[in-house]
Amino acid sequence: MIVLGYESSCDETGVALVCTERGLLAHALHSQVAMHEAYGGVVPELASRDHIQRVLPLTDQTLNEAGLTLAQVDVVAYTAGPGLAGALLVGASVAQSVAWALGKPAIPVHHLEGHLLSPLLAEPAPEFPFVALLVSGGHTQLMRVDGVGRYELLGETLDDAAGEAFDKTAKLLGLGYPGGPALSRLAEQGDAQAYALPRPMLHSGDLDFSFSGLKTAVLTQVRKHEADGGVTEARRADLAAATEAAIVDVLASKALKAMRQTGLKQLVVAGGVGANRHLRQRLQTEISKLKGRVFFPPVALCTDNGAMIAFAAAQRLKAGLVDLAQSNSHAFTIRPRWALEDLAV
Ligand code: ATP
Ligand code: MG
Ligand code: FE
Repeated sequence: MIVLGYESSCDETGVALVCTERGLLAHALHSQVAMHEAYGGVVPELASRDHIQRVLPLTDQTLNEAGLTLAQVDVVAYTAGPGLAGALLVGASVAQSVAWALGKPAIPVHHLEGHLLSPLLAEPAPEFPFVALLVSGGHTQLMRVDGVGRYELLGETLDDAAGEAFDKTAKLLGLGYPGGPALSRLAEQGDAQAYALPRPMLHSGDLDFSFSGLKTAVLTQVRKHEADGGVTEARRADLAAATEAAIVDVLASKALKAMRQTGLKQLVVAGGVGANRHLRQRLQTEISKLKGRVFFPPVALCTDNGAMIAFAAAQRLKAGLVDLAQSNSHAFTIRPRWALEDLAV
C-alpha cells in the first residue's frame, strides 16, 4: 500500500510517500525557520498561512520524486495533534480533501508516535521491545515501547522540554531561533568545565526531568557578567558548552537508568534534540559499555517531517490497528493537546 503523509503541526510543512512493503519512497520538507526568526519564535498565524502556500507544491514535488501519481496513493495520513491548532487544520483539511477526491481513506496520526517510530526508518532498525527517549521542542519523555501503539510512559519532564531548554538558553545568549543547533555550534568553542551548572533531578530516583532551573542558572551567570564587564564571546561559548553538557548529562543518565530498570538493552532516541552530536556520542559510548545498542533516526528526520507521519501510518496499517472503513467518512477533528498514552491502540 502507498501512504501519502502530511505533517503541519508547527513550523515545518512535510509531505512524504511511504510504501508499507518498500519503506520511504520520497519526502519533501519546507522549514519556516527563516520566516519566524525575526520574531524569536513561531508565530502561529504566519505558520498556518505558510503551510497553505507550501502544501500543494510539496505534494507535487514528492510525487515527482517518487515517480508516482496521486491515483496510485492508497491511503492519506496526516498529523492530527498535538500542535498548533491552525497549523494542524491545514494539513488535516488538505489530507482529508485529497483522500475524499481520490475516494481513499484518510487516517489521523499522533505527532509523537511519528517521532517515536522514526528510528525504525534507519538501517539497521531496532526491534521491539525498546526504551525510547523522546526529546523534542515540546516534549521530554522516557517510554517503554513493546510494539506499535504499545507505549508505557516511564518518566517525563515536569516543566520545560530539553529542546526548550536549548532554545531558551540560546535566546539568553543572544543566539537565533531555533536555538538548539546554534547553541551546540557555539559550544564547540567553549569549555564545559568553566561553569558548574546544576543537573536538575539527576538523583531524584525516578525517571522524571526538570529543565527550567537550568535556564535560570544561566541567566544568573549572564546577569553577573553584565555587572562585571559583559558577556564576552569566550564566556558565551563556555556557557553554551556548560549548558549542553548539563542537558546531555541528565538525558543520558536517565536513559541509562530506564534501561537498567526495564532490563531492556536497546535505546531509541527520537525528536529534534536527537540530532545533538554530544548526546549521540555520549549514549553510544555508555551503551556500548553495557553491551546494549542505541538507535537514532537519520539526522534529517529528527526534527519534524512528513516521512515520520506517513511511516507511522504505514506501521499502524501493517499492525492491523487502523479501521479503514471508519477512515472513509472524511469527518475529522484535530487535537492540539493530545497525550501519547491517550492514543487508542
Ligand atoms: P514536539 O514534537 O514536541 O511538538 P517540535 O516538533 O517543535 O516539538 P522537534 O522538531 O522534534 O520539536 O525538535 C525541535 C527541537 O530540537 C528544538 O527545540 C531545537 O532547538 C532542537 N534541536 C534541533 N537540533 C538540535 C541539536 N543539534 N542540538 C540540540 N537541540 C537541537
Ligand atoms: Mg520545528
Ligand atoms: Fe515534533
